[in-house]
Amino acid sequence: MKDETLLQEGASRFGVKLSGSQVGALLSYLDEMLAWNKKINLTAIKDRSEAIEKHLVDSLTVCPLVSGRKNLLDLGSGAGLPGIPLKIVLPELQVVLVDAIQKKILFQRHVCRSQKLSGIESCHGRAEILSSREEMDHAFDVVISRAFSDLRTFIQFALPFLKPGGRIVSMKGPEGEAEYESNRPWLQELGVSCLEIKCLELPFSGAKRTLLVFQEGLVSPRSCGLSAG
Ligand code: SAH
Repeated sequence: MKDETLLQEGASRFGVKLSGSQVGALLSYLDEMLAWNKKINLTAIKDRSEAIEKHLVDSLTVCPLVSGRKNLLDLGSGAGLPGIPLKIVLPELQVVLVDAIQKKILFQRHVCRSQKLSGIESCHGRAEILSSREEMDHAFDVVISRAFSDLRTFIQFALPFLKPGGRIVSMKGPEGEAEYESNRPWLQELGVSCLEIKCLELPFSGAKRTLLVFQEGLVSPRSCGLSAG
């Protein structure tokens, strides 16, 4: 299968219809990532087809959860995942990418400049420190992370950035549900509710993923919905 088709088909499994120009932008972002990866450590995946599925399609699995929201903060964004693919596909979404490593931030800025993306910003620093900045304090509708930290640390880092009624989205591997279960009492005590657990399989490798969605406050007395994608 051609790489363009791989990407288009992969995304469509999660209800995301990509235009030709979005496919072009996503693939050239990936090519920049693989080229820069020879100099700075951005990804362990070196094969283009594998990266199409495990980086691009994987990032787009959250589109239905994020679409229609005003702004999104991606903590520990690394090479810009999932924030840059989301920005390419949802151009109205305002995106802020955070990472503690300056070289990764420089890569993100380079990509945003060369792709002429606007309404996206890269912020160098540690998540736990940046939350005290006035413009970031309780300023985001969605705080997301992929492969960033354990669930507890992420939720603690995410809460100070979250607008009232906003969502925290944690993108995890197959262990996501068990990690949620083991943190349930702690989350309850903290006053954070799980809105949804989405179990997914990536379309070509069958790799398992879990999307965990949280909100501050008690949402409903029924237990968290589990859905398979
Ligand atoms: N989200 C990306 C990168 C995951 S690797 C992806 O899915 O590919 C985790 C990233 O988190 C690294 O780039 C690391 O530099 C960053 N990181 C770790 N601790 C951090 C912290 N406290 N604040 C900001 N970034 C952090």
